[in-house]
Amino acid sequence: MIYLDHNATTPLHPQVLEAMLVCLQEHWGNPSSPHSLGNQARMVMQQARARIAESLGCEPSEVVFCSSGTEADNLALRGVAGALRSRGNHIVTTAIEHHAVLHTCDALEEEGFRVTRVPVDPQGVVDLESLERSLTDQTILVSVMHANNETGVLQPVEEVARMAARREIPFHVDAVQTAGKLPFRLPELGAGLVSLSGHKLYGPRGAAALFVREGTPLRPILTGGSHEHDLRAGTENLAGLVGLAKAVELAVQDAAEEGRRLTGLRDELEARLSSSIPEIRINGAQARRVPNTSNVTFPGVDGESIILGLDLAGICVSTGSACSTGEPEPSHVLREMGVSRRDAQGSIRLSLGRGTRQEDLDLTVQVLADTVARLRRITSI
Ligand code: PLP
Repeated sequence: MIYLDHNATTPLHPQVLEAMLVCLQEHWGNPSSPHSLGNQARMVMQQARARIAESLGCEPSEVVFCSSGTEADNLALRGVAGALRSRGNHIVTTAIEHHAVLHTCDALEEEGFRVTRVPVDPQGVVDLESLERSLTDQTILVSVMHANNETGVLQPVEEVARMAARREIPFHVDAVQTAGKLPFRLPELGAGLVSLSGHKLYGPRGAAALFVREGTPLRPILTGGSHEHDLRAGTENLAGLVGLAKAVELAVQDAAEEGRRLTGLRDELEARLSSSIPEIRINGAQARRVPNTSNVTFPGVDGESIILGLDLAGICVSTGSACSTGEPEPSHVLREMGVSRRDAQGSIRLSLGRGTRQEDLDLTVQVLADTVARLRRITSI
């Protein structure tokens, strides 16, 4: 099997699995319990928190563990909205966010908040002037993703951070697709809130974190015990968090080198696809992108049919957001970039990862070229 869907999820790193197994077998106590087994579990949790903080350049007290990138995004958006309701009711985000942000914004609108979804240019980069113009005295939160999950296009979050800071507006960055892929330290992003998710960086599912910079106003969305500095109630998934910490540590260690390797492979893949399949377009190719992602439009061909054809040959790719697979609507991200409805439906995402080798891509180019040629023949009959 050739797996080219790493933006959907990644396999566990063997060292992550090992760390988790030890934890599951030996540290199964409840970190809140007052006895020695609980104390031991609490220590293991503190170590995991400290390792993440060390790897990402923040304080351990600024790491809030939660269950998924979706939950981290929800906590950031609903948490700030809840905390600052009396100050204003306006939220600014972009039109190409993951549904974890966009659908949460829809829900907040139903609760009386006003949301501005700032457009992007044809390369998929947020329009900074529109964003700045949209900020008002009523704006209580700005949320912009670091890299888009479908195209890999990076957003100018540092500039947005400066705009938000000038007006003292909390800023959230969904870094689910960049944490572990790019060698950044959290303070460099300039955000008060940053989401990341274990299963996107060779860690487990069910383990994620929201970085909450000291002093950022936030109300919990899950209430109960006083876990996670009173910001996220619920007995912790200790083995998951140990796995997350190990995964973050490993990913950060070789993000720069692995990034260079994947950029080389991705660029060559795109060059070879362009020379062997007529009329294709690489979406967001002129923008800065994460190293591993390529979003390709094959005009006149249905993306779902390409995916089926590749799957039959043992190659796993997707149309974009895994969460929207099966939905008849074409990608909102591509549509916002000005891609026609038909072309958006004829687009697929190839996302490379640690296991990807040159020979995988050789075969992928060959199978893709055959599949697209066959599908074009069928549709032209
Ligand atoms: N944000 C982005 C940019 C994503 O790509 C994803 C998942 O694809 C999420 C949030 C949600 O993360 P999770 O799958 O951990 O809920």
